[in-house]
Amino acid sequence: MKVLLIGGGGREHALAWKLKQSSRVEKLWCAPGNAGIAAEAECLKVDSGDVAAIVALAEKIRPDLTVVGPELPLVNGIADAFALRKWAIVGPTQEAARLEGSKIFSKEFLQRHNIPTAKMYGAYDSAEKAKAALKNVKWPVVMKADGLCAGKGVFLAPDEKAAKNFISSVMEKQELGAGGARILLEETLEGEELSFIILTDGQRYAALVPTRDHKRVLDGNEGPNTGGMGAYSSDELLPSGLREKIVARIVEPTLRGLAADGIRYQGFLYIGVMLTASGPKVLEFNCRLGDPETQAIVARMDFDLMEVLANLAAERLDASKLKWKSGASACVVLASGGYPGKFETGKEITGLREADSVRGVKVLHAGTKCDGDKIVTSGGRVLGVTASGATLGDALGRAYEAAQKIHFAGAHYRKDIGAHASVGRGDD
Ligand code: AMP
Repeated sequence: MKVLLIGGGGREHALAWKLKQSSRVEKLWCAPGNAGIAAEAECLKVDSGDVAAIVALAEKIRPDLTVVGPELPLVNGIADAFALRKWAIVGPTQEAARLEGSKIFSKEFLQRHNIPTAKMYGAYDSAEKAKAALKNVKWPVVMKADGLCAGKGVFLAPDEKAAKNFISSVMEKQELGAGGARILLEETLEGEELSFIILTDGQRYAALVPTRDHKRVLDGNEGPNTGGMGAYSSDELLPSGLREKIVARIVEPTLRGLAADGIRYQGFLYIGVMLTASGPKVLEFNCRLGDPETQAIVARMDFDLMEVLANLAAERLDASKLKWKSGASACVVLASGGYPGKFETGKEITGLREADSVRGVKVLHAGTKCDGDKIVTSGGRVLGVTASGATLGDALGRAYEAAQKIHFAGAHYRKDIGAHASVGRGDD
């Protein structure tokens, strides 16, 4: 099969690496890809949010299957454009992608189908109304811009002053763009987070191994939020009692709710869960795989991803095909100096080969590009050093051993990925 993968980050490098291992893949393109993906696939220049440009590209190269990594092309309707032409694609339609594209739509969906989630105080389309609503909330309050805001749309406001500043910057100054035209306020949940991702063809579904992301930039979960500084996966994250609760109270009602609302959902569905003292509750939906969760998930895959995705696109998902390596995996993200704030690019990266030669390690590229015969940085998150092992300790040990071998000016990474790993709880 000839496969086109859309995207150019660490998640897409993980997918490209795995797809390339399949004997069924005769040709792999990635648009736009990055310097690491270039070793697994032919990279083609395209703006991955531009549906018309991707359609034009697919018209030319005629892939048998297209796999979409990031949310933007999905929210912009790429799956609909492909369906119209009867081209096979993995990813939900524009309507289904609203579960991620609109936090208000997603919250109303959760409420309508009685799926446990944080209580919403309200949704507001003007700064004046949002500020007035602050009189009736409990502090701290969670504030969410409705639309896509590149990971900057959620704010945990400690007090009224901070909340008003957020409302001013998002709704009055429109600093996050159109995604901030409406905001919602909701109660703050406490607990550990868990990423529960499923693959569904609209009828059947299969759960991927559980993962935990590390959003804050500094050790000990300090500092600002990022796109994700690392992730790990181990079966201990999800004891069977908790899995059953998540499936019965969240996954199955979500799939039934989508069907009842007449929304066909095909592709990866990411469910961000908070394990609270009153049971697991949904924090968010994403209409695609997480990054860097994907890197940790792919490291544990013991099946032919190409076969599973081809079956999914043909509406014949076979959950029994998804086999997983026991043990654990970890991904440590190496970021540019200054990230998630301002950072410079173009720094030469050395030590990649030495890092890749550590047993059980694969260095996955996110923000890298080729510059002559050098590989240089080109983004905030640069690399995801990913390892598997018999235990979480083994996987982490390997990932950190490899990370130490990589150098570029300003590089920084968290030293405590997976260090506070705890068994998932979801009491109630
Ligand atoms: P979201 O994009 O909605 O998942 O929000 C991003 C992050 O904000 C989540 O991963 C949580 O860490 C945090 N968050 C979102 N909603 C809540 C909530 N209701 N209570 C506490 N933390 C939250």
